Amino acid sequence: MTENRSATDIFRLLADDTRVDVLRAVAVSQYELEQIGSGAAELAFSEIYDYVDVENTSKLSYHLGELTGTYLRKSDAGYSLSHAGERIVRFILSGNYEQPESFGPEPVDGVCVFCGEEALEAALSHQFLRIDCTACERQVTGQSVTPAQIRTRDGESLVRSVKLRGAEDARQIRRGMCPECGARLSADVVALPGSPLPDADPFVVTSSCEECLREYNSPLTYSVVYHPASIAFHWDRGVDVTARGVWEFHECLYEGRWTSEQTASDPDEYVVVLRHGDDAVRLYLDSTATVAETERVRGESGEFRRS
Ligand SMILES: [Zn+2]
Ligand SMILES: [Zn+2]
Repeated sequence: MTENRSATDIFRLLADDTRVDVLRAVAVSQYELEQIGSGAAELAFSEIYDYVDVENTSKLSYHLGELTGTYLRKSDAGYSLSHAGERIVRFILSGNYEQPESFGPEPVDGVCVFCGEEALEAALSHQFLRIDCTACERQVTGQSVTPAQIRTRDGESLVRSVKLRGAEDARQIRRGMCPECGARLSADVVALPGSPLPDADPFVVTSSCEECLREYNSPLTYSVVYHPASIAFHWDRGVDVTARGVWEFHECLYEGRWTSEQTASDPDEYVVVLRHGDDAVRLYLDSTATVAETERVRGESGEFRRS
């Protein structure tokens, strides 16, 4: 930031139809002008003037001056969107400030982590796609969805998109990146006193973003499911874990096939075992839930391969 401006100053800049039209015009004309591989097009003053309904050039010049530095960037070749301009104009164009249409309840695959029943239903609850168990009436999971995500899909493909986004986010989180803002994340492993399945996985990985204040929590077992060693282990057995939603993992915890255990203190160390048939993959983690080592265990013989 070149200067300290308050959030209200930043938003006040947008409280004007012409300025919002300018941002929209830059996005629309970039969309129309951009050739593959050409990078973001920069628009000359005259091009923006053609797109925007504004009385005269000095008015446009004034509005461009106000937007430049926060929402627009200016070079000799013309104007283009800044990071903030990019985020805000995509937000406006996608209509993600609208209230989404209601969705559900619709039955979804998977079992309840609390009671083991195959009785899950998905429904929209505020900005989350919530999955509840109709057998024990508890909430199984909730994952954030956008209004555009809902508007452009029917039920089945909406649920698929939620799984996809959950898997992508989880991978970024485990690599220390906040999916929301891109800042660096730190992670801690904590014992969960009220864990529904204390024998299978009593630990939670909690990652907090110091910048945007988002918090991400996940059972320790789930935090390693998208590790390459787990993806490969499951892929070799005909399972694509990257296409599964977290609620579809509950069955593995409920049946005790996936477990976690603390193996050392000060510094803390953990092992997660993901079993499939007679085989298993073990992932050894440090106190920040970083996987230090993995091994595959084959059959009852205990013969294993370290990697
Ligand atoms: Zn239940
Ligand atoms: Zn963040």
